[in-house]
Amino acid sequence: MALLELKNMNITYKVGKKRVFAVQDACMEIEEQDAVGIVGESGSGKSTLAMGVLRLLSPRIADIDGEVLYNGQDFLKLNEDELSKLRWKEISVVFQKSMNALSPVHKVGAQMEDVYRIHFPKAGSEEVKKKIYDLFQIVNLSDRVYELYPHELSGGMMQRVSIALSLLFSPKLLVLDEATTALDVVTQGQILSEIMELQSKMKLTRMMITHDVSVVSSTCNKVVVMYAGRMMEQGYVTDVLVHPKHPYTQGLLRSFPSFTGAKSDLRGIPGSLPDLSVKPTGCVFAARCPHATDQCRSKLPEMKTVGNKWQVACHLAEGENNG
Ligand code: ATP
Ligand code: SF4
Repeated sequence: MALLELKNMNITYKVGKKRVFAVQDACMEIEEQDAVGIVGESGSGKSTLAMGVLRLLSPRIADIDGEVLYNGQDFLKLNEDELSKLRWKEISVVFQKSMNALSPVHKVGAQMEDVYRIHFPKAGSEEVKKKIYDLFQIVNLSDRVYELYPHELSGGMMQRVSIALSLLFSPKLLVLDEATTALDVVTQGQILSEIMELQSKMKLTRMMITHDVSVVSSTCNKVVVMYAGRMMEQGYVTDVLVHPKHPYTQGLLRSFPSFTGAKSDLRGIPGSLPDLSVKPTGCVFAARCPHATDQCRSKLPEMKTVGNKWQVACHLAEGENNG
């Protein structure tokens, strides 16, 4: 059984009378110890998907339907009490600016102790400190960070603290949403290798949200390519990012220097994302796709299986319809 399975998940923002269809018909499976990269350009719905899975979107802001099965249990059917038992302990998340949630007037160590005591109120002071120091070591932070205030940390140290915090209750699934995006290349590279190391040490499963395909290719085994709220292609990195079958994946890869070699080969994808408040009749990528036909503009392509766990939503792809 998959650790996490999404079945026909839809997330619709409510903005006054307007509806923004930010995630449409998302289906995916994450198996234990997978590292799945969710990639796509800005506005494609990656963060919305992560927040929906974690049930961090209030029903006032968005409607969510479909199924989010964690170990077979539907996350969307749990009440707040049941959810709070699973968050942090089973699934935890690191955002680009997770540290903003910490108070600027209290030391980092004391705040982490407080978080630990939410689930383990009777834990002794030495036990908690040891747990935090062990985590600091895993994310390459010195013990002195315990006594520092958040404003005394560099961007890289902040993200390391955020990652340490997310690991406080030894979760099974770690969601990283653009967690290293704002960092310089060197620090980003260091933190990514620390993440991979801790993933194998702690037998973690990882969902990695990023707009950077090279981060996915270097740190993930599977990838989901999103565009305008829909999943375009998904499968093993060694298939999807090496022999992409979807025209959007092909365009996305051409926009990255590491995939095309010479800088002169770099090409963006002309055009921009469609208006997500209008449900398209055909393929969401049709207006920008160099291969679009009349069929593409009038009929939504179904997800087809084209190889081992490899799926493509394009009329041109040859494979079996997922039904
Ligand atoms: P980025 O990398 O820029 O964060 P993303 O792929 O994570 O992009 P989302 O942030 O999930 O994309 O946004 C998906 C769509 O949902 C966008 O069209 C965005 O404008 C819209 N959206 C996001 N948050 C809200 C909200 N609170 N209310 C209404 N629409 C929203
Ligand atoms: Fe392009 Fe048509 Fe495939 Fe959409 S379905 S990606 S428009 S070829």
